[in-house]
Amino acid sequence: MEEVRKILSIYGKKIVEKGLVAGPGGNISAREGNYVFLSPSGFFLDEIEENEWVKMDILTGKVIGNLRPTCEISMHLGIYLEREDVKAVIHTHPPITTGLISAGVKFKPVFPDYVALLGRSVPVIEYVVPGGEAIRKAVVSKIKEYNVVLLKNHGAVCVGSTLKEAFARSWLVEDTAKTILAGKIAGSLRYLNLKEIEGIENLEAEDYRKALLKKDKR
Ligand SMILES: [Zn+2]
Repeated sequence: MEEVRKILSIYGKKIVEKGLVAGPGGNISAREGNYVFLSPSGFFLDEIEENEWVKMDILTGKVIGNLRPTCEISMHLGIYLEREDVKAVIHTHPPITTGLISAGVKFKPVFPDYVALLGRSVPVIEYVVPGGEAIRKAVVSKIKEYNVVLLKNHGAVCVGSTLKEAFARSWLVEDTAKTILAGKIAGSLRYLNLKEIEGIENLEAEDYRKALLKKDKR
């Protein structure tokens, strides 16, 4: 059986462990060759067995097996067709992130890892109906230029060249939200300024850490 199924089951558990989804919420996938492996619809991400990931031919859209894939299949496929470099897509419902962006709080860099793993900024899009063409269009239009997209009143979509990289981004998104929330509760939060952001982008040590995420599948 494909190695990627094992890695998907590992990250399905990690996503739940970090509190990034609840119940049957969220969906994840990974690409291998001409196939994409998707979480089955209605399953809890930490309960999906290796043989239950739904295999689909990217070019023909043909599903192999009996289980129904996630209702966000169109969004996942849209991302893979748009970005050749993307090998994993993780869609979560992180509660603090979703609460903050839905309240209109700025989701900007507050610490170095934001800049290193998410970029200078992260796009936030307005609410759209899930599970169809509207969300596919809205997310894919941003994924052209970003590795993370936040959806108001819904959650986050993170991509990566490995599941590990997509997971690191998903985890860091919610960690950022917690830090912003703590800063706002404590007083007036200071975000990093442009000079500080540029300083992080120029760190050689960050290139090394980022390369590790792209290399290591687990
Ligand atoms: Zn969702």
